[in-house]
This record gives sequence, structure tokens and C-alpha cells, in this order.
Amino acid sequence: MSPLANSLHARDVAYQIHPYTNARRHERMGPLVIDRGEGIYVFDDEGKEYIEAMSGLWCVGVGFGEQRLVDAATRQMSKLPFYHTFTHKSHEPSIDLAEKLVKMTPDGLDHVFFTNSGSEANDTVVKFVWYYNNALNRPEKKKFIARNGGYHGITIASGSLTGLQVNQRGFDLPLSFVRHVTCPHFYRFAEEGETEEAFADRLAAELEATILAEGPETVAAFIGEPIMGAGGVIVPPRTYWEKVQAVCRRYDVLVVADEVINGFGRLGTMFACEYFGIQPDMLVVSKQLTSSYQPLAAVVMSDAIYQAVADQSERLGTFGHGFTASGHPVATAVALENLAIIEERDLVGNAGRMGAYLQEKLKAFADHPLVGEVRGVGLIAAVELVADKATRAKFDPPGKVGLYFIEHAQAHGLIMRAVQDSIAFCPPMIITEAQIDELLARFSAALADTKAWVDAGMPAA
Ligand code: PMP
Repeated sequence: MSPLANSLHARDVAYQIHPYTNARRHERMGPLVIDRGEGIYVFDDEGKEYIEAMSGLWCVGVGFGEQRLVDAATRQMSKLPFYHTFTHKSHEPSIDLAEKLVKMTPDGLDHVFFTNSGSEANDTVVKFVWYYNNALNRPEKKKFIARNGGYHGITIASGSLTGLQVNQRGFDLPLSFVRHVTCPHFYRFAEEGETEEAFADRLAAELEATILAEGPETVAAFIGEPIMGAGGVIVPPRTYWEKVQAVCRRYDVLVVADEVINGFGRLGTMFACEYFGIQPDMLVVSKQLTSSYQPLAAVVMSDAIYQAVADQSERLGTFGHGFTASGHPVATAVALENLAIIEERDLVGNAGRMGAYLQEKLKAFADHPLVGEVRGVGLIAAVELVADKATRAKFDPPGKVGLYFIEHAQAHGLIMRAVQDSIAFCPPMIITEAQIDELLARFSAALADTKAWVDAGMPAA
């Protein structure tokens, strides 16, 4: 037996199947084992420090090592570690959090359903919308329109809404209730000579044509992330959402805003809906809701949807949907404390101020020979690396340079994420100016390594 056979690394490879990982490559490389976290930093099992420039998976808003969240969880665990919310049962933290979410989310969202994950929340959206249209005696009105490049999760329904090949290839997805329309990425999909405004008009017209081609009586809802996250931090033109909403209203198509990444301050506003002027019928939140110290997501919806669903539940005898941990007391208690921290420390204001600083500093990279586009709002951004700045040509194969960059960033003590060759930034909302400077110094070092490797013809390691 090798001396490493009992190591964390060997046991990980032997026993654990990893999400979003090439399993054979993982067998060769082994894991990076993260041992602890503090503020914007995490440390591996050898004590090496990393800036977590992605807040884990776009989620640890208040940073690592926040004792108040540990205490909130401990208090709730001692008092009532579990109780459910099925069949007329309830508990205080879930009631408090439902009320809090209704009060803090945009007007017109009045009722909350809890799930464990964003994927479950989006499956729940689909089921609510189907149930709602059955209740209204519109059994044909069931299709969803989503966007190429959108990310809504990986369960069967949410994975169908997602518009990324990697989540569908090999899985027999998407299911047939979904249509995907153009990704609102001006840099990639605008036509020659088109302004941002004209691009937004064209996308709204495409949405309208899609609804008409399908038949408005068959189209139930439009779902989108205000700013796409996992698809590469795609910021739509400023008027895109207002135009898309107008089309949806014309055909009685519900608007679903998926703020699983955007919500709770990321853009410098509490919700991205405020930033873009979206008035959704349903809002999906997760991640920064608890800073992911506990798994939790929620669907917040209009009274009109609730009323139809409530009537139908009486007709059918029950609303036959729910998870064992819907509104879990520890998760909802942690969410309440996390939201209190965000408010008391004005982390939304900090995200706005530090976001402006980050975006300004990132602009300096626009002139770098490998950088095609710098984009973002608040504390979410991406730097897209391209093979040819003038033609915007991607590297071949896409993703190879992004992967090289990520591995070298890691060597420089910086954890980031590449979406193909776009390098994403989503640091904890507690970040300071000095920490942004340090993050960007490490980013520059990794970019210099990447440039040297590209210039050398991208030799195999
Ligand atoms: N929606 C969006 C916008 C997301 O970014 C994600 C996760 N990155 C999800 C849904 C799915 O959430 P989960 O991974 O918790 O299922």
C-alpha cells in the first residue's frame, strides 16, 4: 500500500464522485482540499492561503468564519434542530424569514415557498406555474422560454431551463417544454454596426416572434437571471429587461427573475430587479440568502399566483409538493442572522462602493493583448480572454486558456472560475479596497503567466 493511500487526497479519489469535474482527470490530479476559511481567504490542508475571488460558488457574501452565523445555527440546533412545515406545522424561524423576504423583495411579491437548493427552487417554479395554469383552466399554457447561456440548475426541469450544453449533453435534456432564445451578450451576439439599444430591440422582437410562433396560449413563463452568472457574467443592455417584460405582459407570460447569484447586494442594490427595473411575478433566491452556511433557497411569488394555487389545493385536497427540509429551522435561522449582518454592516453599500472600485480597476486590463472584454456590475465581473482582439475570435479549443489561467491563479494564491475563457470575479461583499488591490495583483501575475504560455504556442505541460 502506498504511503498516500490513507491521505485525504487518496480517499477522495477512491470514494467521492465530484460534481462538475472530469472524473478521470481528477483521478490523475487529486483534489485541492480546503481546510478552513477566514474573511475573504481560504486555506488548504497544507496551510496555503488563497483569496476566494468567487465567494466559493458565488455565495459566501459575508465571508468565511462569521461567528454570528455559527452562533445562530448553534442556538437553533439546541432549541429545535428539525421540524417540518408539511400538513399545517410551522416554526418561528421559517415564519420570520418568509415575512422578512416578502417585506424586503420588490413590491408585488407576497408569499414564499422554501427549498434546499436553487435547482429545486426552479423546479418548484415550473411546478407552481403548471399548477397555476391548470387551476385557471388553461392546460395548454405550460411552456417556458429561457435563454442560451442561462443557468437555472441541474435537476430535470431546472436543467432543461439552463441554456448550457455541458448540462444537457449526455443527459437527454432539455425536456420539450422549454424554448431557448438568444443570450443578451452584446459583445458576442450583436450584429455588425448594431447599437446596444438596437440589439435589445432585436432580442425583444425575437422573444415576441417565439411566443407568437408557439402560440401565446401555450407559453406560460419567461425565466432569466438579471445578470447571467454561470454562463460567463453576461450583463444585458440597460433596456433589455424593460423591453422583454413589455413583451411578456402583452401575452400574459409570467416573468421569473432568477436572483440566485444576483440577490442580496451583489450588484450594489439589494436585488438586481431594482437595478434593471424588473417587476417579476416570481423571484428565486438562494446562495447569499444564508451566505451558504446552510443550504436554503426560496421562491417568492405574487398574490395572484398564490390565490390560484390555494384554490386548487382546496379543490384537490392538498398542494402535493414540498421537501422534508422546506423552511428548515437551522437554515432559516441562519438566513435571518445573515440578512441582519448584511443590513447592519451595510454590505449592499459596500458592494456598491467596492464594486465601483473593482470595475474601475478592471478597465485597465481592457488594453491587455489577451483581453477581449471586461464586463460587470458591482461585485460581479468577468474578463474574457480571446485569441484575437480585433476579430473577437475565441481560443481553440475554447476553455483551454481559461483552465491554464485558473491553475496558475491558484499557484499565486487566488481561486477564480473560468467559464470557457472568461475569468469570473465574485468576491465576498465584505472585501476592502486593499484586498481588491491584492486580488488584482495575483490576477495580473496569473495573466502574465498565461500570456507567456500563449506566446510560446500553448505547449503541453
Ligand atoms: N440559478 C442560478 C442563477 C444559479 O447560479 C444556480 C447555481 N449556481 C442555480 C440556479 C442552482 O442552484 P443550486 O446549485 O443550489 O441547485
